[in-house]
Amino acid sequence: MSSSDRGEIVLKVEGVDARYGQIQALRGISFEVAAGEVVVILGANGSGKTTTLRSVCNMPIVHSTGSVIMNGTEIKKKDTAEIVHMGLAHIPQGRGTFPELSVMDNLEVGGYVRKDSLASDIEKYFELFPRLAERKDQLAGSLSGGEQQMLAVARALMSRPKVLLLDEPSLGLAPLIIEDLFRTFAELNKTEGTTMLIVEQNANLALGIATYGYVLEAGQVVLGGPSEQLKNDPSIQAAYLGA
Ligand code: ATP
Repeated sequence: MSSSDRGEIVLKVEGVDARYGQIQALRGISFEVAAGEVVVILGANGSGKTTTLRSVCNMPIVHSTGSVIMNGTEIKKKDTAEIVHMGLAHIPQGRGTFPELSVMDNLEVGGYVRKDSLASDIEKYFELFPRLAERKDQLAGSLSGGEQQMLAVARALMSRPKVLLLDEPSLGLAPLIIEDLFRTFAELNKTEGTTMLIVEQNANLALGIATYGYVLEAGQVVLGGPSEQLKNDPSIQAAYLGA
């Protein structure tokens, strides 16, 4: 496992290219995530944010090459299911819950990679997301957008991931729900030390809870630095923070 001045590196992405047929979506991107960090990847529509997460977990929808090292092990050639077992949980855009299953069943499915008892974790996430507790027997497909996002997060956490990948968690949610959700992410990171990699267009909120950030433009990382530094960067302010 490598380390840096950011601490122990749990995810090291190096020289990743990605294409959908003839369309090249990523061009040699490199970035790192250290243990306990919240890392945000910012970028405009079509810059390659979703493709970055898909490439990290080697989803077959995209053909990607390069190196992705998790906790010292090269995972670029492993299949997605194995990567999940190794501790990477991915919440895709559009939530990734099972709509035809209840809230409770979704949480139980989320913990399927574990052999120990799930009850105490389910209890914990019901405390963190009381709206889910109130709706534990409701079908996931009938939850509101914000509730589905909460369920997707809780479901992913049930596998006790080493790294949680979140694809635009704010998408389609009302401002107050988004603030609430990001507050919960910050709390999870602080109290449980959950390492998160978030791709997001809402730079204000994401940089508000992030430790470190990277900016993607046309499939390339054009900037990276501590979130405080990015927040004060005039080019970031102009492009993403509405300054
Ligand atoms: P957004 O913020 O709009 O979700 P993004 O930064 O997540 O955008 P990607 O979805 O990664 O960007 O897309 C990067 C490039 O890859 C775009 O040019 C997009 O059109 C293309 N692309 C993404 N998914 C596919 C696909 N399934 N088939 C073909 N091209 C795709």
